[in-house]
Amino acid sequence: MGAMCDDRYYCKKCGALLMIMPWEEKECKYCGSKVFPLPKEYDKYTFDNYDKVIEDVREKYVKTSPEYNPRSAQFREKTQARGRAKRAAMDAAKAAGKTSSPSGPPKVECPYCHSTSTKKISTLSKAAHTYMFGIFSMSRNSKNFHCNKCGADF
Ligand SMILES: [Zn+2]
Ligand SMILES: [Zn+2]
Repeated sequence: MGAMCDDRYYCKKCGALLMIMPWEEKECKYCGSKVFPLPKEYDKYTFDNYDKVIEDVREKYVKTSPEYNPRSAQFREKTQARGRAKRAAMDAAKAAGKTSSPSGPPKVECPYCHSTSTKKISTLSKAAHTYMFGIFSMSRNSKNFHCNKCGADF
């Protein structure tokens, strides 16, 4: 089997199954204890079978070892649950962001007639406006959008 299997370790203290790169410390990121390479019998499994592997390893190797500490296992569970919740929240935020702005800049709504047919006033048109109307157009320069429906700037 591939070299990938050699990167898999398990922690006898808290029952974590970990991927550790060859150059990384062989140490459990949850409880800081020493980790051991996953027994050869699991070489045929990939991380797709993660749940089955981890259950098996915990029953056969973790819970039977003197290093096993249920409190460390509990702590790891909590840490992993927090990580999962965080990832789920991030995914949800990403999905929400995708639906609200499909492509291009978000639509700006006119505060007067609530039309979304608005356009950003370009710096160039602002400059031209200032040139033509001088000081009296100062107020317009603080506006960034123009409503195509009612003609308001805001
Ligand atoms: Zn551990
Ligand atoms: Zn309007």
